[in-house]
Amino acid sequence: GDTYDIVIVGGGSAGIATAASILRRNPGLSLAIVEPSEAHYYQPGWTMVGAGIFNREFTRRAEARLIPEGAKWIKASASGFAPDENKVLLCDGRNLSYRVLIACPGIKLDWDAIPGLRDTLGRNGVTSNYSYDFAPYTHRLVTELKGGRALFTQPVMPIKCAGAPQKAMYLSCNIWERAGVLKDIDVQFHTAGAVLFGVPIYVPALMEYIERYGAHLNLESRLVAIDGEARIATFEQKRGDQLTRVEERFDMIHVVPPQTAPDFVRSSPLAAPSGFIEVSEATLRHPRYPNVFALGDACSASNAKTAAAVRKQAPVVAVNALATLDGREPVADYDGYGSCPLTVEQGKIVLAEFGYGGKPLPSFPTWLIDGARPSRLSWLLKKTILPPVYWHAMLKGREWMVKPHMIGG
Ligand code: FAD
Repeated sequence: GDTYDIVIVGGGSAGIATAASILRRNPGLSLAIVEPSEAHYYQPGWTMVGAGIFNREFTRRAEARLIPEGAKWIKASASGFAPDENKVLLCDGRNLSYRVLIACPGIKLDWDAIPGLRDTLGRNGVTSNYSYDFAPYTHRLVTELKGGRALFTQPVMPIKCAGAPQKAMYLSCNIWERAGVLKDIDVQFHTAGAVLFGVPIYVPALMEYIERYGAHLNLESRLVAIDGEARIATFEQKRGDQLTRVEERFDMIHVVPPQTAPDFVRSSPLAAPSGFIEVSEATLRHPRYPNVFALGDACSASNAKTAAAVRKQAPVVAVNALATLDGREPVADYDGYGSCPLTVEQGKIVLAEFGYGGKPLPSFPTWLIDGARPSRLSWLLKKTILPPVYWHAMLKGREWMVKPHMIGG
């Protein structure tokens, strides 16, 4: 097969941002991006699609237009990693050799883990913002519902954008509140987790919205089956140390699918025990293969899996990969930054920004945006500023806001 200085597996947020960052620093390198999809998605926009604020077309662009100049697009899926031979295996039987590998194929949405779900998705009141295809159906269901029961589910962590399951609920409730029908809708949030949100300082503001909307919080309640025709969802709930099964009828249900490392990652020598690609939390380098890096949703680092995290990780991986090509040790480290803009109502956001261990890492001074309180400016950020920042800065390797932190610097 062909040989490249750098092979990047996955041309999503992380793959394109990292490729652009590397080629801006060193346009002469040979760099290939392995990505099977013709389309690239701005997934953070799907919460807004589900609420009728963005058109879904706004969140999709042709991959061909985003591959940076100087990069070679290999339009194929990777099927395996052979890091002892410095090779990536492709589904079509080819393989690629590299001096440095950057692996970022994202996280797998495991729709099939919930029996009955795949058959009924997009019909019978069953929807999900975790899909370009179905996010518009969320908005249709919400505008049509005038009474009855609405369920919102959240699976076991980690998932991408841990706040997105509740964002769907808040924005739906806000639409029902404005339409005057909220009082006739029984809203139930079922989360497999033991808390509403993993970082405690944001919970009080979120609880105010749970109360305002009259939503019921079901903790440690995990969706395990769905019967679309009968409109019944089955949950496994923890009661003391017993697990019981509870069936709930619904008029609509917003499902967030269970998520795991992609199968070809999980079964590869790069995998950590969790199945995700093992990395050192600071340098994002593989502990056993020093010429392998990983970032984004597919890596094992304990940050919040978000595009916001990728924005900070990409330049760190870029400079560390370039140092590795030069035979040097990694030069930059990542603090675990991730961000989750919790859309609590149309026009207001609780902007969670934190690093490893839940340490607050606000981008703005408190007088401008207090992350723990709902903010109008944060909504403006999400609605009008972050999408162009994504397309025109992050995916182009323009890093005026995210200079990588140099080790010892
Ligand atoms: P992706 O962008 O998913 O890209 C992975 C790429 O790998 C894809 O292009 C895929 O086709 C490719 N791939 C898969 N398998 C293979 C293979 N075998 N070989 C080669 N390529 C492969 N983030 C935020 O920052 N803020 C938000 O508000 C936010 N909200 C979200 C709301 C929703 C509903 C969703 C779904 C996500 C949200 N996110 C948000 C998360 C954000 O979209 C992801 O964290 C981010 O896209 C991760 O980038 P990535 O490159 O790791 O994965």
